[in-house]
Formats: sequence, C-alpha cells, structure tokens
Amino acid sequence: MTRMKKRAAQNIIAIVYDFDGTLSPGNMQEETIFRAYGIDKKKFWAKSRALVDRRGYEKTLAYLKLLIDDPVFKRHPLTKQKLREFAVHTPYYPGVGSGYFDQLRAFMRSLPEVAEAGITLEHYIISSGLEEILEHVSIRKYFKKIYACAYDFQRGRPVFPKLVINDTNKTQFLFRINKGKFKLSESINQHMPEEERRIPFRNMIYIGDGITDVPSMTVMQKAGGNSIAVYDPARRVPREVKVMVAERRAQHFAPADFRPQSLLIKILHQTLKKIIASIVYRSSAERSSDWVRRHM
Ligand SMILES: [Mg+2]
Repeated sequence: MTRMKKRAAQNIIAIVYDFDGTLSPGNMQEETIFRAYGIDKKKFWAKSRALVDRRGYEKTLAYLKLLIDDPVFKRHPLTKQKLREFAVHTPYYPGVGSGYFDQLRAFMRSLPEVAEAGITLEHYIISSGLEEILEHVSIRKYFKKIYACAYDFQRGRPVFPKLVINDTNKTQFLFRINKGKFKLSESINQHMPEEERRIPFRNMIYIGDGITDVPSMTVMQKAGGNSIAVYDPARRVPREVKVMVAERRAQHFAPADFRPQSLLIKILHQTLKKIIASIVYRSSAERSSDWVRRHM
C-alpha cells in the first residue's frame, strides 16, 4: 500500500536544453564577457587549453580559473553586476527569443488529452556556461530550473567555482530532473523505484548540439528518453551531428530554428504527441489494474 501512495502521477514532460550552440549561437562567454572586455577569443581559449595540456586542469575549471585570474580580469575583475548586465547581450537562434515557448504552450493546449490527463510541460537548461549570465537572460522565466557553472561571489566578485558542469557530470542533472531532487544538497544516489520518479526519462526530450552532449544523450537513449541533435542553421549538417545520429545517440537532427513551421518544431510536436499518448495509455492501464486490485 505504501508503494501505491508514493506512486508519482508522471504526467509532467520535460524538455532539457544545452545552451551554447543549442539555444544560442556560439558561446556565451564570447558574446558577453569577451565582447565587453575586448578579449581575443582565440588567445583566451589557447590559454585555457594550455592549462589543460600543461598543467592538468579539467577543461571547464581551466576557463573558470582564467575568468578570475587572467591579467585582464586581475586589472578589472568580473562582478556579479557586470555578468547580469552582459546577459542582455546573449544572442538566440531564430524563434527562441520571440515566441517559441509560448507557441509550444499553445500547441499543448490545443490537444484535448493534455487537459484531460493534467499534463504539464517544463523546460530546463543544463550548461557548462555561467549561471550568473543564464539566470538573467531574457528567456529565464520559461525555465523551471537552470543548471550551470557557478562561482562563489564575495563582495560581488568571483573567488572560487562552487559548481562545475562539464560533459559527463551533466548527466547528474538529468537524474535530478528525473527524481525531482533539484537541490545540490539533496543526494540522488539512493535508489528510487521508477514509478516514484517525478519525470520518467521517457517523458524527457534532450536537445543538444555537439560532442559535449553525447554523455547526456547516451543516458537518455539507454533510459528510453528522446534526444534531438541541432546545428547552426547557417551551416551544413556538421559531421559530429551525423555521427550522433549514426551512433543512435540522437533519434533526430535539425537546424536550430525554433520558429513555427521549422523542421525542429515538427519533430518536437511529433515527440510531444508520442509522449502524451504514452502518458494517457499508461494512466488508463494503471486505472484498470488498480480497479482489479480493489475488486479481487
Ligand atoms: Mg553546446
């Protein structure tokens, strides 16, 4: 009986996005911090790579270190305030900043099963970029939760990275979304039966653009989730996207065009309809089995 009480409704659908190269062209540090400081991106990334190659730094920690103690930031330190102001300049792929989220909500509302089964849609970001920027982008309000690299700020200045998100530990956050344990202080290591999880993987859609998303897509794939690889609409299909689809990490690929009528929106609509049908089907099967249990 206790098990039945704990069973989650599992009628929430989550779309989980990578950020750089997925919702936004390029890379958020380049479009915001580098632009404001006049930093040559090639030189910065070369320095970051040197920390990895010569001093054994983890890739994400290397760039987070440079943003604190590269000479240019020693002279003019980054601050919480500056990062917030820079967030305004974050560019988006077509549609992202102009109606995509509202249109998807309208699409959900147009399907009668959504209201009947009480289905809701949530959006999440998991990014190796900076939390302080992402928390202040214009589309922030559409996301239930954003996970990204975070600094400990003291007197407004970053002193040490308190959260690092890289390719492989991105998957930890998929499990947080899956189990509904959002706070970093909550352990996700304990076993949780599938039926108690807030959002099963089959109700999730992961959208990412590159090799850095492969571990997340692999988790999605193995757990019955859905993955879509996207690429810059101004380019031809990159080889890494072809590889992701050929190796079955992603079921679909499309240009990162979030405007109505785009291929990506068609794929998203199809995937949402599939998930909605499976939620409705499962809940009716559960009602049957509950009825039988009560009447045996
Ligand atoms: Mg990316």
